[in-house]
Amino acid sequence: MLENPYITLFNHQKNNRFKVGNTTYKARLKKLKALRHAIEVTYKDKIRAALYNDFKKPELEVDLTEIYPVVSEIKFVSANLKSWMKRQKVETPMALLGASSWVTYEPKGVCLIISPWNFPFNLTFGPLVSAIAAGNAVVLKPSEMTPHSSKVMADIVADIFTEDEVALVEGAVATSKALLQLPFNHIFFTGSPAVGKIVMKAAAEHLASVTLELGGKSPTIIDKTANISKAARKIAWGKFLNNGQICVSPDYILIDETVKDAFISEIKAHLKTFYTAHAEQSSAYSRVVNEAHFDRLQGYIENAQQLNATIEVGGTLNKAERFIAPTVISNLPEEASLLQDEIFGPILPIKTYKTIAEAIAYINTKPKPLALYIYSKRKQNTNYIIKHTRAGTTAINNNVLQYSNHYLPFGGSNNSGIGKSHGFYGFEAFSNRRAVLKQHTKGATEFIFPPYTNIKQKIVDWTIKWF
Ligand code: NAD
Repeated sequence: MLENPYITLFNHQKNNRFKVGNTTYKARLKKLKALRHAIEVTYKDKIRAALYNDFKKPELEVDLTEIYPVVSEIKFVSANLKSWMKRQKVETPMALLGASSWVTYEPKGVCLIISPWNFPFNLTFGPLVSAIAAGNAVVLKPSEMTPHSSKVMADIVADIFTEDEVALVEGAVATSKALLQLPFNHIFFTGSPAVGKIVMKAAAEHLASVTLELGGKSPTIIDKTANISKAARKIAWGKFLNNGQICVSPDYILIDETVKDAFISEIKAHLKTFYTAHAEQSSAYSRVVNEAHFDRLQGYIENAQQLNATIEVGGTLNKAERFIAPTVISNLPEEASLLQDEIFGPILPIKTYKTIAEAIAYINTKPKPLALYIYSKRKQNTNYIIKHTRAGTTAINNNVLQYSNHYLPFGGSNNSGIGKSHGFYGFEAFSNRRAVLKQHTKGATEFIFPPYTNIKQKIVDWTIKWF
């Protein structure tokens, strides 16, 4: 059998894990500062160019959704790491009299981060910030679908880290599979639920812990009390940003049937303002990442047309440019692929409901989403929807932005993910909460040692009753 091509790299990191893990918070912040400088200054133009070459991502969107999230994560970690790394004293019950207890966050060890293509920098370096903060050695495996971005990330990593602390491996599925055979202590995977299952199975071989940041269909409910124009504007932004290739973009709309027409005319108007009537010429509009995804999305539109759905906005395509106009489609039957698959592209299906209970029942027929959005002016309705659905994250009267609050845990639930990231939750994902009990004086537990006498039985009876 051939030797795993990454075993030497893995062993280098494994041999170095205590050195990396026993660093002070200052040493970790120094590494993060170097990463920040590389992203914000040295490589900024290269990052922008790489993303333009990968899928024509506009500069401002690169700054806002790739550079800013990583830089702000570094700032947040820098402000808090000292306190996160401190041991946390906890209570010790009376039955353990004479002891004290605390929790200490120790690094998991050698970690693997596998990332997707849709926000290559954000979703590779974001988790890296948490992994470094927690004191781990890390192997990064970004997506093969955004090769320009992967190359720049490889250069940044080689520039500021030694291979035995952080290394980046470029490659596709075979590379990912080879890495997954190695006994990493933690695997942080961002990608589709289907590949998430492959990752979790591989992790089980070594009982590696996992954080799975997955996707799925994120519903958006708009009730009849909502401010329709504001909702349409925010959804036009959240859905068509990054060409709809966002794990938390509104996948489909569930709208009260009495306000559907108003919503469609509002979103039409906002899309025109954002991208003009000819989005193909707009410098604010990105492209589909590759031909395979273009074909998949084209298939969704054709399937909708065959099923006599109504194309309310857009529907035009240019394969050579991998361009799909911002598209809104209504009157879809349930079997339409747009209502079955995660869309991950610039197509927004709209489905109407008569009662909120009907909308909730529909959502609950599907796996738990990564995000569920609610547009409503009635607190009673928002509370009711939250109580009767399950989701990884929710925004009320907005979308996507819940991702950007470091104080909130980010992640899904079951099919949309396992574990959380960002801020303290990211630090926690890459740490083991080690429980420590220290015995100071003889203590009450001396009484439980054999031989078992009647008096000891009485003490146990008393303990069960009172402590
Ligand atoms: P993907 O699952 O196809 O690929 C992700 C990574 O896994 C890539 O690095 C790829 O090389 C690797 N990979 C692919 N197939 C593999 C296999 N068979 N074995 C081992 N590794 C394999 O996902 P994608 O197309 O890059 O991204 C889109 C998906 O990611 C969507 O489902 C989206 O919702 C999800 N996503 C989730 C989040 C989140 O934070 N929850 C963020 C972005 C994207």
